[in-house]
Amino acid sequence: MTTPATARAASADPLDAVVKAPQAVASADAVPSLLGLTREKLGGALRGIGIEERQIRMRVNQLWHWMYVRGAADFSVMTNVSKVLRAELAEHFVVGRPEMVAEQISVDGTRKWLFRFPARGAGRPVEVETVYIPEEGRGTLCVSSQVGCSLTCSFCHTGTQVMVRNLTAEEIVAQVVVARERLGDFPAAEKIDGILPSEGRLVTNIVMMGMGEPLYNFEAVRDAMLIMADGDGLSLSKRRITLSTSGVVPAIAEIGAQTGVMLAISLHAVRDDLRDVLVPINRKYKIAELLEACRSYPGLSNARRITFEYVMLKGVNDSAADARELVRLLRGIPAKINLIPFNPWPGSAYECSDWEQIEAFAEIVNRAGYASPIRTPRGRDILAACGQLKSASERLKVRERLALAAMIGGAGGDDD
Ligand code: SAH
Ligand code: SF4
Repeated sequence: MTTPATARAASADPLDAVVKAPQAVASADAVPSLLGLTREKLGGALRGIGIEERQIRMRVNQLWHWMYVRGAADFSVMTNVSKVLRAELAEHFVVGRPEMVAEQISVDGTRKWLFRFPARGAGRPVEVETVYIPEEGRGTLCVSSQVGCSLTCSFCHTGTQVMVRNLTAEEIVAQVVVARERLGDFPAAEKIDGILPSEGRLVTNIVMMGMGEPLYNFEAVRDAMLIMADGDGLSLSKRRITLSTSGVVPAIAEIGAQTGVMLAISLHAVRDDLRDVLVPINRKYKIAELLEACRSYPGLSNARRITFEYVMLKGVNDSAADARELVRLLRGIPAKINLIPFNPWPGSAYECSDWEQIEAFAEIVNRAGYASPIRTPRGRDILAACGQLKSASERLKVRERLALAAMIGGAGGDDD
């Protein structure tokens, strides 16, 4: 179902000040999309509609250029493709765009989008969130890899949500493409020649830190990241794409070898008994094993360090002894340590450490020679901070239903 943009515009809810009138940017029908396909798969799709073998390579290059360099949402603008072929492509395919259910802009400039993707197989349409965080000199897009998460980290709101399904490579790439589109981050046609693909970009960094465990959706995440990193694709440097994992040890070396992206590890505890509770995948892959996989991560060097994420939970993992043990554990691994103030959510069993405690912890880690920035929570007013990507969509769904009900007399959106 597409949502009438006017429904929300007509809502009298004062919160609409931050909720932009969403647009339905694509239909949710079953026409296959060309977005997110590897070159090989795209070639196969073109062969499937009878395009001659000797043309395949050129057509694949043209389509990639239009979809990823220019951000084309439609075949009709692809002017160096013949009209006949454009019509044929449009008959069989779309350049997929999800429906944008909502776009929220925080007072600090952080943006959050709620996207709805069509049902796959017997499933229902799904919704995921993508967050853009502008900072001095860079802009980071936080991308989701799954709808929900099959893991149950005890401090993470996404972890309380049932795992619905993996996102496809198309759906992962689409989050980046639509975010860039909404930000006006594709170059204007007259500027396309003569500028470097990354010049003046708003989205300079990607982190796979939205909803889900990316290494439990290995192939789709890999293919999507390869399109993000491809110089003829979305052209982001591999050093500016970071995959965050809770510690799926057997997949760590493989994702590094196949993509060369940066790695972040959600460590959060320095003892197995505590990590078993906070990050339950630890019951399967212990800290020592996880750190061993980190030590042999392909391409690791002082210039390409692993980021260790550490959420600061009051009285749980935030003592000076914990900080010292963290330093000891990471010895010999080129590492950065990212201290994340815990972002509470309704019903969560934890509190964020006191600020002095976080600073004392950071001080120990800094003195050991690690850069350890304390991550400032961004977009709190729109619930866009780490680990909050569940409550927000539920809230929006309620809002959406109310707005729709007001507009069209009670027919609401989909529930989970
Ligand atoms: N599943 C992956 C990536 C998504 S979570 C992973 O766990 O690494 C992105 C980061 O946010 C992880 O480090 C996660 O532990 C952290 N996080 C989750 N809930 C949080 C919360 N409530 N407050 C602060 N950080 C949180
Ligand atoms: Fe899943 Fe990551 Fe949340 Fe753990 S922290 S439940 S792995 S999204």
